[in-house]
Amino acid sequence: MFNQNQSILTIKGVGEKVAAPFFKKNIHTVNDLITFLPITYIQYQPNVFIDQQNVAVNAVITTDVKEFRTRSKLTVSNIQIAVGNDHFRVVAWNMPYLKFTFKKGDFVHVLGKYNQKDKTITLKKISVYEPDMDNVEELVSVYSKVATKSNYAINKLINTAIAEIDLPVDIKEMLTEIHSPTSYQKLELMQTKFKVIEFTNYYQKIKSMQTTVSANRRFQLNITDEYLSELIAELPFELTRSQIDVLNKGRNALAKDTPMQTLLLGDVGSGKTVVALLYCLIGIASDYQTAFLLPTEILANQVYAVVNSLFPNIKSQVLTSGVKANMKKRVKDLVEVGSCQILVGTHAILEDDVVFKNLGMVIVDEQHRFGVNQRQKLVDKGEFVNYCYLSATPIPRTLAHTLYGVIDVLELEQKPKNRIPIITKVFNVKTKSEMLMGIEKQLLLGNQVFIITPLAYEIEDMYIANSNTIYENFNKKYHGKYKVGMINGQLSSEHKNKVIEMFSNHEYDILVGTTVLEVGIDIPNATMIVVLNAERFGLATLHQLRGRVGRNDKQSFCYLLDEGNNANSTNRLTTLETVDSGAKLAEIDYQMRGMGELTGIRQSGSENFILFDLQTDQHLAGEIIETLSNK
Ligand code: ADP
Ligand code: MG
Repeated sequence: MFNQNQSILTIKGVGEKVAAPFFKKNIHTVNDLITFLPITYIQYQPNVFIDQQNVAVNAVITTDVKEFRTRSKLTVSNIQIAVGNDHFRVVAWNMPYLKFTFKKGDFVHVLGKYNQKDKTITLKKISVYEPDMDNVEELVSVYSKVATKSNYAINKLINTAIAEIDLPVDIKEMLTEIHSPTSYQKLELMQTKFKVIEFTNYYQKIKSMQTTVSANRRFQLNITDEYLSELIAELPFELTRSQIDVLNKGRNALAKDTPMQTLLLGDVGSGKTVVALLYCLIGIASDYQTAFLLPTEILANQVYAVVNSLFPNIKSQVLTSGVKANMKKRVKDLVEVGSCQILVGTHAILEDDVVFKNLGMVIVDEQHRFGVNQRQKLVDKGEFVNYCYLSATPIPRTLAHTLYGVIDVLELEQKPKNRIPIITKVFNVKTKSEMLMGIEKQLLLGNQVFIITPLAYEIEDMYIANSNTIYENFNKKYHGKYKVGMINGQLSSEHKNKVIEMFSNHEYDILVGTTVLEVGIDIPNATMIVVLNAERFGLATLHQLRGRVGRNDKQSFCYLLDEGNNANSTNRLTTLETVDSGAKLAEIDYQMRGMGELTGIRQSGSENFILFDLQTDQHLAGEIIETLSNK
């Protein structure tokens, strides 16, 4: 984004040893480092429950410290504190110095074990807390884990880099604020500035790439009604009215003498895959090869399995980085001689040595996860290639046209009707035990449960749920009774595939993971998804996550644990209890946008952007495009 392409080794104090863990995270240049932005910010809230037992609070001491001795000569200190309007008793064992250090009226940060019954906190740690009256928003940046580096060390290194490098003052100021915020207001302003720079770069890039595709194609793609009806009749389910409608529209586009350039929008679970595959079959019937690109290996394998089960007569292959070298070569040979009709795969199919004999149709699923170059690379592997991008992210036609160069936007407005609506319920610290009982009930019924956490691993002093700890907790809790698996983005793709495979074979009852589980996975026996620290996710993401369940004829559940401790987050989350449309939720998210968003977990979703989010920043995109095109 910024032209700071020198290695991070050029930063003062950075040698091979310091740099190694960053290299592993694909952070090589100074630019990579300074744009390695916090995934979230955490604020010392007046009242933070860490888990069922532990609590961290900012409080004011309301009585002087009282001290007494037990018979065994231990000192016990008693302190009364107020957290907002709530009062608690703090009990400290063997900390005689407290009496001399703290007094009535002091502001303190208290961390300890919480006993709900008598509202007592058994002290683990207490420190002076200085509420800055002008700036009550004390924000700490949280970074995605870099091996053994502490969160603080990452922040410090980045700040050193920013100080050392040669960048305009306002850019430095922006980066400094984003890495070490001084206030919400300023942070938000600087984040917007960052997004504007990002989107402007992106927009200029696509403008320079876009060539008008109006070339006449030599052959039209068409098939007979009979053939299409036969294909549809063989499907194990009846297509929805929407699917038929979109299929027909796509078919008309394919019959034109200009290539199809379509964006197919449809909420999670609306059944985009089968429609896209039918487009492929139209291409195949006209003797073209087709390619189906997906962002992850798990999804590629899944679609490959769908092709084989729905259309066993079609010659299909799958190509991902996980495929063994000799098999890869074989698949590439088959593609090159034209003996593969559908090639399903990940980025691996973009490589130069994947050569098609006659590519006529390209499908890109979860298309926002790919960069412009990547999408284009695939389309460029054929002549007059038809393409269809699939997405669950609603986007206005004009914006879709500008960004993706699509001509038609088709929409699946209906979901398959055999679905039982998912029951969504928001829980909080007080009702958490009810939630845990709900989980157990599903397990008893032999159903499977997803548990989602914002973070993969623990980050010191951050009271945000992480997969690793939750996995260990559930493992302990259900030892010998239920099997627990874990998945996160930091595992190797082989490992991830293995875990998903085991979960779909019901070798695990519970799968704990981060939002790597957000996209597309189809595991019908999972009937419950539980999201911890749900307040840290956008509504659209939560809706995507919810789409992982409700894929069979059993009642499914989406449980959201609201650990935000404020009315705002609760209000926002409860909209999910009643609203079940991705498009509506995106709109609500936009309207309710505010402070909460800054402490949300940033998804590493798009190949194109770091901060900018096509879902939530559409309005900003519109403004930027307007400004740029008026120049
Ligand atoms: P998405 O639009 O989110 O990508 P999928 O294409 O993965 O959704 O479809 C979700 C599930 O619904 C799949 O298991 C698929 O087989 C099933 N499905 C698709 N169309 C229908 C239909 N018309 N009737 C019943 N089930 C369907
Ligand atoms: Mg899908």
